[in-house]
Amino acid sequence: MAYDVLILGSGLAGMSAALHLADRYRVALVTKHELLDGASSWAQGGIAAVMEGTDSIEDHIRDTHVAGAGLCHDDAVRFVVERGRASVEWLVAQGVPFTRGHDGADGELHLTREGGHSHRRIVHAADATGSAVQKTLVGQVKSHPNIEVLEWHIGVDLVTSRKLGQPGINRVHGAYVLDIRGNHVKTIAARFTVLATGGAGKVYLYTTNPDTSTGDGVAMGWRAGAAVANMEFIQFHPTCLFHPHAKSFLISEAVRGEGGLLKLPNGERFMPAHDPRAELAPRDIVARAIDFEIKKHGIDCVYLDIAHKGEAFIKEHFPTIYARCLEFGIDITKEPIPVVPAAHYTCGGLTTDLRGRTQVGNLYALGEVACTGLHGANRLASNSLLECLVFSEAAARDMLAIDSPPPPPLPAWDESRVTDADEEVVIAHNWDELRRTMWNYVGIVRTTKRLERARHRIKLLQDEIHEFYANFRVSNDLIELRNLVLTAELIVRSALARHESRGLHYSRDYPDTLPVARDTVLQPGPALSSAAAETART
Ligand SMILES: Cc1cc2nc3c(=O)[nH]c(=O)nc-3n(C[C@H](O)[C@H](O)[C@H](O)COP(=O)(O)OP(=O)(O)OC[C@H]3O[C@@H](n4cnc5c(N)ncnc54)[C@H](O)[C@@H]3O)c2cc1C
Repeated sequence: MAYDVLILGSGLAGMSAALHLADRYRVALVTKHELLDGASSWAQGGIAAVMEGTDSIEDHIRDTHVAGAGLCHDDAVRFVVERGRASVEWLVAQGVPFTRGHDGADGELHLTREGGHSHRRIVHAADATGSAVQKTLVGQVKSHPNIEVLEWHIGVDLVTSRKLGQPGINRVHGAYVLDIRGNHVKTIAARFTVLATGGAGKVYLYTTNPDTSTGDGVAMGWRAGAAVANMEFIQFHPTCLFHPHAKSFLISEAVRGEGGLLKLPNGERFMPAHDPRAELAPRDIVARAIDFEIKKHGIDCVYLDIAHKGEAFIKEHFPTIYARCLEFGIDITKEPIPVVPAAHYTCGGLTTDLRGRTQVGNLYALGEVACTGLHGANRLASNSLLECLVFSEAAARDMLAIDSPPPPPLPAWDESRVTDADEEVVIAHNWDELRRTMWNYVGIVRTTKRLERARHRIKLLQDEIHEFYANFRVSNDLIELRNLVLTAELIVRSALARHESRGLHYSRDYPDTLPVARDTVLQPGPALSSAAAETART
């Protein structure tokens, strides 16, 4: 199978890239579950963009820098923010039914406000923005004759010129992809390959992310020779519904934006004691405050109260949250919502330039898998869907402008030396141990001792998983576990390399922020010692 472009992942990054490319290029869009599965469909709040006169590009840029704690790259921030309006207009042109003002369907787009934003600038479709966007794009993707969709196919590894023993710069020529239902590995060759595989929230025990967020792209890119940066910056969403039967249901930032108050079980507010912005402080501050209060009082959760806004307001603005909580017997028009923090967003990833190019030839990384320099040490709410849109368009433009030769013939996947796994329990056990280790030792508040403990345990798990991978046929779970454990290693190495507290990385051993902000960049390659690999980029 050969295509112009192979895209791994059908979130907003993957689908919008496919649509930008498909009028001229033949595209394979590979996704490990169904097209709609991924974090993009779960996004509730919306897309940040400067859309009206009292707001300004400079204000959005400033808000992004403030959230990013001095680590955002100004060129990337400006690049994204300046393209906000055009990106939203592109989605409107695709037919996304965004919420509009009171004058009905033809009125101005309704803008909501979220923590860390100095203006109302969040374009949304009620409280289910991602779902509205993704459903619209799925319609376009499915009807495009140049896009071939491969659902239930998971990328295993990229095929590089280096692995093929070819001289010259290291390039990607495609990927090995497991047909999950057919249970065999296909070889897909392409002139360009795009990793749009999303984040890595599943590396933690508690996460708001869907099951698909297992760090596959970071791991595949790293194994192919791409650098990663800033993996220590994991955003913990402060408010995930706390209920034994609710799997990762997020209570959107917009609930606090529209007046929701955080309270202890006795009804007392606590955020004003932590930050002058109270409930509207950036996520990391709110998550740390909740973590602090939970540990201080020995409680399971805190409460988010929006009931004072009244039934009509709540049902109009938060229909999904209202309905979902009601399923668990919580009527949010009358009572507060029990919430806890959970791993939400991976700020770091494969380093890219403003065209979405990684440091490996013909390989692009788009969306949450990438580290573009936009988010710095902490992502500003609703900047990530915007990042997906802006970089997908930029990468597509770049690919369309390059006259790259067709890929060489690629060797088939070799299964001659492996057998069927004898004990699947090894996978389940290691998966659980890894996620608990990360939660307990690499969570919201870190210490060097705990990080070292995590590093040690991860090394043991890696050895075991590597042995399993070398001897047995690949399966979806094994591929994900292998990627998760590598992603965990990269997070821990990055956290250990940062000798300060900044943004989302808070270390008790290094509580101060250094005067100069530097990225943590890890370079792959056996030739590099880990000390030499952990270099800094200003
Ligand atoms: C609950 C929730 C709410 C959010 N709300 C907002 C919001 O309001 N605004 C905002 O800006 N951001 C929000 N975010 C963040 C935002 O949704 C994500 O950052 C963004 O959707 C990432 O898009 P993506 O295309 O990079 O990845 P995803 O949408 O996660 O898509 C990744 C795709 O890759 C596929 N995939 C993964 N690995 C492989 C593999 N090995 N082979 C093949 N396919 C693979 C997955 O199946 C999936 O299709 C939210 C996130 C969550 C979890």
